[in-house]
Amino acid sequence: MSEKQNINDVVIIGSGPAGYTAGIYLGRAGIKPVLISGLLEPGGSLMKTGIVENYPGFHDGIAGPDLMDKMEAQAKKFSTDIIPDDVVEVDLKSDIKKITLSSGESILAKSVIIATGAKYRHLGIASEEEFAGRGVSYCATCDGFFFSGKQVAVVGGGDTAVGEAIYLSSICSRVTVIHRRDQLRATKTLANRAKAIENIEFIWDSKVSKIEGDDSGVTKLQLENVHGSEKRSLDCAGVFIAIGHTPSTSIFENQIDMDSSGYIIVNDKGTQTSCKGVFAAGDCVDGKYRQAVIAAASGAKAALDADEHLQNKKGEK
Ligand SMILES: Cc1cc2nc3c(=O)[nH]c(=O)nc-3n(C[C@H](O)[C@H](O)[C@H](O)COP(=O)(O)OP(=O)(O)OC[C@H]3O[C@@H](n4cnc5c(N)ncnc54)[C@H](O)[C@@H]3O)c2cc1C
Repeated sequence: MSEKQNINDVVIIGSGPAGYTAGIYLGRAGIKPVLISGLLEPGGSLMKTGIVENYPGFHDGIAGPDLMDKMEAQAKKFSTDIIPDDVVEVDLKSDIKKITLSSGESILAKSVIIATGAKYRHLGIASEEEFAGRGVSYCATCDGFFFSGKQVAVVGGGDTAVGEAIYLSSICSRVTVIHRRDQLRATKTLANRAKAIENIEFIWDSKVSKIEGDDSGVTKLQLENVHGSEKRSLDCAGVFIAIGHTPSTSIFENQIDMDSSGYIIVNDKGTQTSCKGVFAAGDCVDGKYRQAVIAAASGAKAALDADEHLQNKKGEK
């Protein structure tokens, strides 16, 4: 059986900035990692974005897919073996880890790096997809700058939404927070800060029923009151959907420790999970910062931690 034939040093799961960076570091350390790229989103979340202006080293910005192509090429240059498949099952608790792919193939490894990212929750209305990247955004830090001096809306009422509204208020002329309830779910301190900012306004008990626009992008939102039939429209150039994220970690349940939202718990300052030899990096760990440069940096840390684990194992023999 193939699973008895070869035990890999490290298998990386995920091909976003965290996974590719781990591949680059391991390859340069003389370890030939295997990277499972995922069928749904090879290249990760940045494959869906237009220009990325905040990744260091690209003075004029770079298209998300181009940045990921460069990372993939760099990982391949340093001998990362990329397998285009999904991981469907894992056994991480044994000394030798077993990773099962959707093709049915099983891969064995002494160490595993999980870099499976997180998904932004969507409103689920048709026009959301139509204007994605043309006024519909899920990240104020990433895209806020493109709306300098313009009117924008933020959908949501939790800490993320209110934090995004506060961030945008210093860039945009007006920020309208649209929330389904009659009060914010965000912590009181954050909510009070937002309410004290002059160019943030709130529309309560409302949901977005349609996003409208033209060739240049979003121009207007249609809103509905959740308790009645009252409708209204709101002019804006952009809408930031901030209704939460779901880490892509369900296949690791009952194998490694996670918090109540499904983010993988790692040791302080490191990437070690609750399972020896298993490390995690990027947005599947980080519910707060969610930036490519931070994911890449934590992928580098995971590679260094996995390398150290392999060295320690050799020393035990
Ligand atoms: C629209 C958009 C715009 C953004 N703009 C910016 C920006 O301008 N600047 C910035 O810094 N950040 C931006 N971000 C955030 C940035 O994309 C993420 O922080 C970063 O990609 C996280 O990297 P990651 O490697 O942790 O995960 P991801 O990039 O999400 O990659 C996860 C990988 O895991 C794989 N995977 C998941 N499950 C499995 C499985 N079961 N088996 C195999 N593979 C699996 C997926 O295929 C994917 O390759 C943006 C995000 C979005 C969605």
